[in-house]
Amino acid sequence: MDDQMLLTAALGLPDPWHIARSEMKHNEQTGRMEMHIYLSWKEGALFPCPEEGCDQMACPCVEVLDEQIWRYHDLLQYRCFIHASLPRISCPSHGIRVVRAPWDISDSPLMNYTDVMLN
Ligand SMILES: [Zn+2]
Repeated sequence: MDDQMLLTAALGLPDPWHIARSEMKHNEQTGRMEMHIYLSWKEGALFPCPEEGCDQMACPCVEVLDEQIWRYHDLLQYRCFIHASLPRISCPSHGIRVVRAPWDISDSPLMNYTDVMLN
């Protein structure tokens, strides 16, 4: 099992999400190493509708939001951050919606990454 497969399994990433790359970064403020994981999906990928109870599992992407960063659980003792651009999809029942980030444990991405780096 290579590093990407290990990380994919650790994050429990569903299709069509996959890890584009990952890297260790040194945080100058804390003096600690951090893990940064960059997620992506293949062009033309289909996503489930985020609305509660909706059974539309294959909604096409109509727009891509700017990259956001999420603080994730520590992995292998390193603070872990996930970078991804969420797609806005078109559901036949609900219209345009932003997909739910399957890795989101905090309900929202970081508003300010530098605040978190200091904690
Ligand atoms: Zn829907």
